[in-house]
Amino acid sequence: MLVKGVVFRLESGLPSEAKFLLEDFRLAVNNAIRAGLQARVTSRNALVKIAYKDFREQHPMMYAQHLVSAFDVAGSVLKNHRRRLRNSVACRIPFAKRLMMKAENQAYKLDRESGIIDLPIRAGCHVELRLVVSQYHRKYLDDMALSLGSLTVLSNRVIVAFRKDVPKPFAPESALSLDTNERSLDGVFVEGDGAKAVKADFPDIAVIQLRHHDRRKRLQKKKAHDRRISKRLCRREGTREHGRIDYRLHQVANSVLKFAEERKSAIVLENLTGMRPKRSKELNRRLSLWPRRKLHQIIEYKAQWKGIPVVKVDPRNSSRTCPICGRIQYSRMGAEFKCECGWHMDRHINASINLLQTAISRGMAGGLRFDPGAFQHDVMMILYEPAMAARSEPNGTSGIVGVT
Ligand SMILES: [Zn+2]
Repeated sequence: MLVKGVVFRLESGLPSEAKFLLEDFRLAVNNAIRAGLQARVTSRNALVKIAYKDFREQHPMMYAQHLVSAFDVAGSVLKNHRRRLRNSVACRIPFAKRLMMKAENQAYKLDRESGIIDLPIRAGCHVELRLVVSQYHRKYLDDMALSLGSLTVLSNRVIVAFRKDVPKPFAPESALSLDTNERSLDGVFVEGDGAKAVKADFPDIAVIQLRHHDRRKRLQKKKAHDRRISKRLCRREGTREHGRIDYRLHQVANSVLKFAEERKSAIVLENLTGMRPKRSKELNRRLSLWPRRKLHQIIEYKAQWKGIPVVKVDPRNSSRTCPICGRIQYSRMGAEFKCECGWHMDRHINASINLLQTAISRGMAGGLRFDPGAFQHDVMMILYEPAMAARSEPNGTSGIVGVT
């Protein structure tokens, strides 16, 4: 089962009854956390067993299903806490600080036509939450293949989980093989007998990482006398960096997936797990692998949702091997890969060709063929470039093709 959380704003703020409910819910969660810590249990069922009766007495008016869902939330907080303890990360006794509540799908009603949620508070008291519905939200509300999951209510917005069965990936008619680099995805698109270079350029992600890194460093120096403030400011800097990068990664992933969906392509990616950034002095200073890993996560998740096949292959030697004669080069190379046999190619694109060949040789690309000789050296398809970010608002027209 795949789950996607969709955020909705509310037309007018939260009704006061709902606000009280959120406060009660938080109280119940914190009580459950305390009970769980004392009894050393973390599962919802165990929590229900030890604490439900007392809870019922403390919150006699609360809708029973909300109470059970409070145990659920407390359970996941406790599990995270236990994991941190196990990894010996220093942490305080957990408690829920933010106002929130979660309701399972049988504990609320959503009219998908009008976008109105009917949320029971207690016996005889319900509130209506009017959602702001945009075109983006309509896509989910109108798709009846999606069922409703849990509802999370926050003080100024709600998150509705939409669920669907994992669709069977289509049989690919072409392949899009991508080598993931710090500033771009470079690859090859193979359809029929033809092969073309493709590129999705995101130089701004590296720039953002670098800028925030410098700012954190400066903050640490400036606030060296007060570790508490320094820590808080650095964390804020980190959150901001994360948000800005995340936004761009989604844009890149969307462009790639739209391309693959339209051409019925299988996507080939390198397997980044276990890979470490090279420890050269210069690299040390700036880039971590997480944006690349995150990009893969986003692509894989969205591809699964759309039924696009994704193949992951071991990237070992992919940037050093000649796809024609199979020689492996151990000497340093520049931007271009050159082989004694006469083959030459942009280093990154060469790597993606090798990834594709690995996928094909293991039968993971569904009967596709690829002949490096058929590669069109003078064509480059642009999947994404930063200039698109301004235009590619979710209006369904974000352009992809552009041949230079
Ligand atoms: Zn060669």
